[in-house]
Amino acid sequence: MKEIYLDNNATTKVDEAVFEEMRPYFCELYGNPSSMHFFGGQVQRKVDEGRSRVAALLGASPDEIIFTACGTESDNAAIRSALEVFPERRHVITSRVEHPAVLTQCRNLSQKGYRVSEIGVDGEGRLDMEELKATVDEDTAIVSLMWANNETGVIFPVEEAAAITKAKGALFHTDAVQAVGKVPIDMATSNIDMLSLSGHKLHAPKGIGVLYLRRGTPFRPFLVGGHQEKSRRAGTENAAAIIALGKACELAGQHMKLENTQVKALRDRLQDELMAHIPNARINGGAAERLPNTTSIAYEFVEGEAILLLLSELGVCASSGSACTSGSLEPSHVLRAMGVPFTCAHGSIRFSLSRFTTPEEIETVIRELPPIIARLRQMSPFGREFIKGQG
Ligand code: PLP
Repeated sequence: MKEIYLDNNATTKVDEAVFEEMRPYFCELYGNPSSMHFFGGQVQRKVDEGRSRVAALLGASPDEIIFTACGTESDNAAIRSALEVFPERRHVITSRVEHPAVLTQCRNLSQKGYRVSEIGVDGEGRLDMEELKATVDEDTAIVSLMWANNETGVIFPVEEAAAITKAKGALFHTDAVQAVGKVPIDMATSNIDMLSLSGHKLHAPKGIGVLYLRRGTPFRPFLVGGHQEKSRRAGTENAAAIIALGKACELAGQHMKLENTQVKALRDRLQDELMAHIPNARINGGAAERLPNTTSIAYEFVEGEAILLLLSELGVCASSGSACTSGSLEPSHVLRAMGVPFTCAHGSIRFSLSRFTTPEEIETVIRELPPIIARLRQMSPFGREFIKGQG
């Protein structure tokens, strides 16, 4: 069965051009980029090119790019560093809808005696900027807020948040793992001190990430040892993955317009048709500014997992709005923070598209999903009550 892959916020296909770019760096050009000999030197030159390509996508300088192993490492490194840089400041601010890569770390910090504030969101997933303004103070070491939410695609006004943060002398970090390649980013004109990205969300392989660190920003490394990455992240560079990420960033820059036209048009058609043909549904964050590739739709009186299984039988890959990875069927912390009613949050499905998504794939989902929901509602006691009420 050929997959219809609509789960690109979970991970993406490696672009074949990206794979070709990295292929020689396993079995042929396998030198250590730090070696003095010619064999390492030629790898070093390609790593430098990769760094420049990543920097170009971000409007940054190559020396502001630190390669890491993943988005999670970048997020952890940014927050840890700020606390070491400002040992006298004991307050950390984040939001209630962050990815666990940030949220779990912040919650662990509160166990260690730090004051941690989690800024709330409204019913559409928009950040409460007044709460942020009232919360940043002279004790704040770092504010870490995501650029775009992985579940709903809702975009936060990170530049404005950074300005509020900097006015109190704290550092500002953004988890831009879902935003890079989908929204224009220009660090040259930005207030943001640190930014995380992850290769596998933009058609590079898993296991490569970046921490952007503004020139002049004080920093304490998370991994210490060798002098790689200008002593800001020790460990032999994952040269092949860095080279791949460079190519992926170059392609992401070239395809950014397409993400915001073609991919967005497909996303809009998908959500408009599903909303038109399935009653008692709502788009989570539908009134907020969102990524062009993401739609999360809540269906009342059905369980997301059941929808996913039936879609999966047809080859359609999507995600639910439950924290099912934790073994519970609790609605996700994101939907709970938005106040999405339990009966809706439970039946939330996220579709996330990419430049490889085709109109035919979208038509298949538009055709197949309405009867799936109707069938599931017929099977559930709440759903039957609802159908009776309608009839
Ligand atoms: N931040 C966000 C918003 C994400 O969506 C993810 C991955 O899903 C991460 C961080 C973690 O990235 P990685 O899988 O590279 O550790």
